[in-house]
Amino acid sequence: MLSNLGDTQHGAGNYEDAIRFLVEADEMVAKSRLAALAPFVASNLAMCQLAIGAHEAAFVTIQPYLELDRDTVRMGRADAAFFRAIAAHTYTANGQWLEARQMVARALEAADQLGDVKIAVHCHWVLGLVERGEGRPAESLVALQKAEALLGPIKDPYYSVQISRELAAGHAALGNWPEAYRYLEQHQLLYQRSLGSAARARMQIARIQSELAEAERERDFALLKQAEAERARAELEMLNRELAAKVDEIERLQTKLREQAIRDPLTDLYNRRYLQEELANEIRLAERRYYPICVVLIDLDHFKTVNDRFGHPVGDRVLIELANLLRANIRGSDFACRFGGEEFCLVLSDIGLEAAMGRMADLLDRFRALVVDLADSQLDRLTFSAGVAAHPHHGSTPDDLLAAADAALYRAKAAGRDRIYAAE
Ligand code: GH3
Ligand code: MG
Ligand code: MG
Repeated sequence: MLSNLGDTQHGAGNYEDAIRFLVEADEMVAKSRLAALAPFVASNLAMCQLAIGAHEAAFVTIQPYLELDRDTVRMGRADAAFFRAIAAHTYTANGQWLEARQMVARALEAADQLGDVKIAVHCHWVLGLVERGEGRPAESLVALQKAEALLGPIKDPYYSVQISRELAAGHAALGNWPEAYRYLEQHQLLYQRSLGSAARARMQIARIQSELAEAERERDFALLKQAEAERARAELEMLNRELAAKVDEIERLQTKLREQAIRDPLTDLYNRRYLQEELANEIRLAERRYYPICVVLIDLDHFKTVNDRFGHPVGDRVLIELANLLRANIRGSDFACRFGGEEFCLVLSDIGLEAAMGRMADLLDRFRALVVDLADSQLDRLTFSAGVAAHPHHGSTPDDLLAAADAALYRAKAAGRDRIYAAE
């Protein structure tokens, strides 16, 4: 890649940049598995070095490869011929005329066989240099004229610039001043033109570099956008999680609020308002399915005395104990609520009056046996009175049933408390 870029720059007469690329390429191929390419890259580099008059540098570039046999470096025939032409050229720069002549002879033979005009031009040019170096200006001119004759199809300005300069020198050596002057002029013209093409080549490099920089900027921008999108997505995900947590929280609060609306905060039993609704539902269900239900009103005996003697908080504890007792001794289909103050109500499902009376007697026994531990004493011998009404016998609406139970409760109180009466 670098070698190609070097070639292109060289072809356009931009030797300085070509050398820069080719030196890099030369160093790279020397280190890599592309070592077989090294002599070719080196010959290109040396050619550019010769073009800017850096003859010694060109010789140093080529020298490490001069001993190598063509087969061991595995070059193509054209590349090998080109290498030899350049090698011969570097010999002339060093004044090694014999070596140059031998080398260029082999290069020219291959160039002729391959029909490679550029290499042939280069060979005749080198021959011209050798002849002149060995003191044969006429032969030198002949060789250079052969080179000139072959220039026609060659597009890049390198050879025409170089050959016209050599021809000027060749004619001057023979004292052909007008010819020498004409070639010198031609050389100047071609050189000016090639400078233009070098400038264009430089601009091309500048353009490629700015396009590369632009591509890099676009890539960085795209990466930035991608990172931004990623951040936004992560943020959205976090917001979604927060939202989901809030929705959960709200649902939990709503459930809690619903529960609070139907429960008594002290005992956690259902409240009276909820009882009214549920009792109506229970009555409808019982009527549809033909099973009996009983409604029980319970009122603690002499509860005011408990408060008076032990204080309100102890009274509260007694209410809680009774609530626990009720909860623990009713079935899942039954229903316990705090009716008000120290009054409770049970709705017993699928049970007749007699069985309900039996269960209430049992509950009263348990309550009588209840012992509430206080700081330095005990509270016991608690009792309640209760009235029981059966559906549909004592009424078929919540109000009728509750009124019947209340009447029975009143009678139980009047009869001395600590007892359970059935409605009449
Ligand atoms: P009776 O045997 O006739 O029912 O006598 P009683 O003292 O239980 O009845 P009364 O209606 O005179 O008094 C009820 C008492 O219940 C009065 C009130 O202070 C108490 N009370 C009502 N609600 C609460 C409560 O939430 N906590 C406490 N500690 N006491 C309560
Ligand atoms: Mg009461
Ligand atoms: Mg009471």
